[in-house]
Amino acid sequence: MLNHKLLEVENLKKYYLITGGLLARQVGEVKAVDGVSFYIKEGETLGLAGESGCGKSTLGRIILRLEEPTEGEIIYQGINITRLGKKELRRLRKQIQIIFQDPQSSLDPRMTVNQSIGEALLIHGMKDEKERAKRVVEILERVGLEAQHAWCYPHEFSSGQRQRIGIGRALAVNPKLIIADEPVSALDVSIQAQILNLMLDLQTEFGLAYLFIAHDLSVIRQISHRVAIMYLGKIVELAEKGEIFQNPLHPYTEALLSAIPNIRQRKKARILLPGSVPSPLNPPAGCRFHTRCHRVLPICDKEEPPLKDVGEGHLVACHLY
Ligand code: SF4
Repeated sequence: MLNHKLLEVENLKKYYLITGGLLARQVGEVKAVDGVSFYIKEGETLGLAGESGCGKSTLGRIILRLEEPTEGEIIYQGINITRLGKKELRRLRKQIQIIFQDPQSSLDPRMTVNQSIGEALLIHGMKDEKERAKRVVEILERVGLEAQHAWCYPHEFSSGQRQRIGIGRALAVNPKLIIADEPVSALDVSIQAQILNLMLDLQTEFGLAYLFIAHDLSVIRQISHRVAIMYLGKIVELAEKGEIFQNPLHPYTEALLSAIPNIRQRKKARILLPGSVPSPLNPPAGCRFHTRCHRVLPICDKEEPPLKDVGEGHLVACHLY
């Protein structure tokens, strides 16, 4: 892993307006992502974890500019890409690719694998058909499939093989960063391990960086160098993987880890989170986690704790620190 920052995200926000009434006036806003900052180094994996609805997938889509941010900056290789025009955006998409949770729905059922991966190559400038076909075979072999698979349709593959095709399509244009949005959560555990190993091998071979989004912390632990925990649109803790798993500071992280038997620290009981995640339409005042926190303080419903460094890059947003 290199020390250069490949991607920097500064105070990124995504608010969705809610309108109502005959005149469709604004009646509220959903703060899906609310002031998120982090960086990813070249060749590094940042794991992004949190319950569903915390804004982690939205964040991935904004970085790819599949959705426009409401506020904030996205800096890629030192260039502010937040408001790039269409042409420059196309060039950028060659460098930042995405892998989806459900490869079945991200692959066109009417296209063979050769057409699917070939399309990505064509969009990014590989005009010669023979050259494209040769590259498709190279990619298939690299992701653990065979040359003959190029002529098959998505329904002819197992879910694990389809995810290999999804990875191959992302890899086809030689990206530097891959946003992996729950890439193994639809797969059986044994297949999950194979896909994670493939992603690790590709990272070593091509120096790829990953933003690895998942709700399952045991999966995040297998692949990440650093881990960020999100709650209701905000990052509440971010640290090196070892720090997060051995010395979690935020009560939300503690609770998430305590729910996983093979991760829970010895002699520590499971922390049950009461209720469900509040609506991002009307998040709690002060610390957003205070309605479910087992260590809540009198200040917690009044003041929002900033995300601060408590030593060696371990960031936490909590009044306890
Ligand atoms: Fe709990 Fe207060 Fe820390 Fe929020 S700030 S996590 S409510 S102790």
